[in-house]
Amino acid sequence: MNQQITVEVSGIDFSAAHFVSEGGKCERLHGHNYQVAVLIWGKIDSLGMVIDFREIKRRVRLLSKKWDHHILLPQLSSLIKVNQKGNQVQVETPNGAYSFPTRDVKVLNVVETTAEELARVICQKLIEGLKADYPNLTQVRVVLSESPTAQAIVTMTM
Ligand SMILES: [Zn+2]
Repeated sequence: MNQQITVEVSGIDFSAAHFVSEGGKCERLHGHNYQVAVLIWGKIDSLGMVIDFREIKRRVRLLSKKWDHHILLPQLSSLIKVNQKGNQVQVETPNGAYSFPTRDVKVLNVVETTAEELARVICQKLIEGLKADYPNLTQVRVVLSESPTAQAIVTMTM
């Protein structure tokens, strides 16, 4: 019998600041308490598991921790220009300029730091790490909530 089993972990959170540009305008700098849930599809191994829940949580926490209490900035935005200058990150937006200490910032390879793009990055990084260790896995889904009523869901096949 060809079975696909899904395992899910949730309740992993991180807090970060960002702003998103749209239609030539930029939001004000603001923060979210993001919640991450991850679903993983695969076949059961000889130990009766798809993957140990603790192992998924450990990997998702590691990724979340890197962004926790940081300002998330997009590297690929057409409106938000991000440049490293010494120990500062200079950010130019249609609303004005910011300068942040480098240690407080994560510059991500995304067009905007939307929930969709953040979920995609988490999903890609998870798959990169899991691929070699777990050949029984087939699909990963990341659900990233930026508020109780707004979430982005990204699903990728391994
Ligand atoms: Zn926001």
